[in-house]
Amino acid sequence: MKVAIVGSGISGLSSAHYLRKLCRKENIPLELVLFESSNRLGGVIDTVKKQDMVLELGPDSFITSKPWALALAKDLGLEDSLLGVGYGSRKSTFVYHSDGLWTLPEGFFLMAPSKLLPFLRSGLFSSRSKLRVLLEPLIPRGKGGDESIRSFVQRRFGREIFDKAAQPLLGGIYMADPEKLSILSTVPQFIDMEKRSGSVLLDLLRNPPTSRGESGARYGLFLTPVQGMSVIIERLCASAKFVRQHLKTKILSLKKSGKRWLLYSDRGEEEFDAVILSIQPNAAGPMLSDVDPQLGVKLSGVQYVSSVVASLVFNERDFRGFSDCLGIIIPSTEKMNLVACSFYSKKFPEKSGDEKVVIRCFLGGELNPDVVLWDEEKIKAVIKKELLRIFGYENRPTEIYIKKYPMSMPRFALGHKENISRVMHRLTHHSGLALCGAAYLGVGIPDCVRSGDLAAQKIYADMIR
Ligand SMILES: Cc1cc2nc3c(=O)[nH]c(=O)nc-3n(C[C@H](O)[C@H](O)[C@H](O)COP(=O)(O)OP(=O)(O)OC[C@H]3O[C@@H](n4cnc5c(N)ncnc54)[C@H](O)[C@@H]3O)c2cc1C
Repeated sequence: MKVAIVGSGISGLSSAHYLRKLCRKENIPLELVLFESSNRLGGVIDTVKKQDMVLELGPDSFITSKPWALALAKDLGLEDSLLGVGYGSRKSTFVYHSDGLWTLPEGFFLMAPSKLLPFLRSGLFSSRSKLRVLLEPLIPRGKGGDESIRSFVQRRFGREIFDKAAQPLLGGIYMADPEKLSILSTVPQFIDMEKRSGSVLLDLLRNPPTSRGESGARYGLFLTPVQGMSVIIERLCASAKFVRQHLKTKILSLKKSGKRWLLYSDRGEEEFDAVILSIQPNAAGPMLSDVDPQLGVKLSGVQYVSSVVASLVFNERDFRGFSDCLGIIIPSTEKMNLVACSFYSKKFPEKSGDEKVVIRCFLGGELNPDVVLWDEEKIKAVIKKELLRIFGYENRPTEIYIKKYPMSMPRFALGHKENISRVMHRLTHHSGLALCGAAYLGVGIPDCVRSGDLAAQKIYADMIR
């Protein structure tokens, strides 16, 4: 069986790994060929190794509450290389609001408290907002169906909770405008809580999702390989045993040729028994519009947002100001360019070298799309000015790494889940064709791994049928 994998991000390489496993088990010969339009493997995963530092320019870790990335890491022999986040340090998140840093209360989970006392003692929220949260159990259930994150949070907890916490937390994860983000496609667990208990607050108080000392993200659930995220990419490639890897080769279109598939790239055409497209749906859509116009239209409608990540390295002895937390989020009401800062050296001291403070700054996203077009000097100047505002001191980084992510994060619009389930249904009519990637099941690495696994299972089932 000869199969093309298009796209070398975590999703495409996972699909190759799992297809290889399935074929090996049944002794089915498999010839895998990889096509990647850029000049490197890994998609948004990008690790830089420098002396005693292992810096992540893109994703820095994966969550374990969804088991697929951890299972893959074990499969790849990486179990003993995995580090947890911020052992021994405070796992709190801060909110920059009204020219000050405020602790997001312990137990606060994305849009609501799972512990009452720290929330009621918090200086971040007004008494009126606290009362509004306490009254949440009296708010009737929603009508069901999809809803924007903004609408859901404001309906259940009020405007202030949205502005100061849910907007920067969820808008920061997805780099998107929560007014347009589908709750069903991003954090459906809150819909389940509302359905199950009639109250998100009561459900969270009964089943707190955060561990001791945490707020914002559930840091205790994240892991990272000590060698860098790119070791996952290297091991996946080794396990997939591609017969050929074509970098700088963009797939332009594909056609059915009897029971086989013809792939057209900028280096010519080639025939395959099966194809796994692990690229943005809005790039796959036009390629498939001849094969299946309906499928083409549905895929083409998925939108993407851009972001910029800057990693700043400081000498610890020269660093002045506050750094005892894992992250700072900045609500859009502050009208700043920074969306969030992550204290990489607190999260992963083992990867940050000796006596260094490493801060990752996130900019751009749907609310500020032009940042990705700025030149590096402008990005550096804006970061310098805004970090001065946050810390009250001007710290001079010894190194800065800037990485632009143009149109790299899918934007889960209202109705996205429904749209994708129709896509998956239409795919069942096309033997030997599978799709995977961040836009299908979720943006996080575990969901990408799972989508790669499911794509492999589809191709395997199609081929042995
Ligand atoms: C800045 C940033 C930080 C993140 N942080 C985290 C994190 O800490 N934890 C987490 O779980 N998730 C994180 N995510 C999300 C997660 O990393 C991504 O969703 C995931 O890595 C996407 O993988 P993918 O394989 O689906 O897509 P990609 O990584 O985008 O890979 C797609 C590949 O396809 C190639 N391609 C596109 N078109 C073609 C074509 N026509 N022909 C050939 N090749 C093509 C592209 O060049 C690319 O290499 C982050 C995302 C971003 C952008």
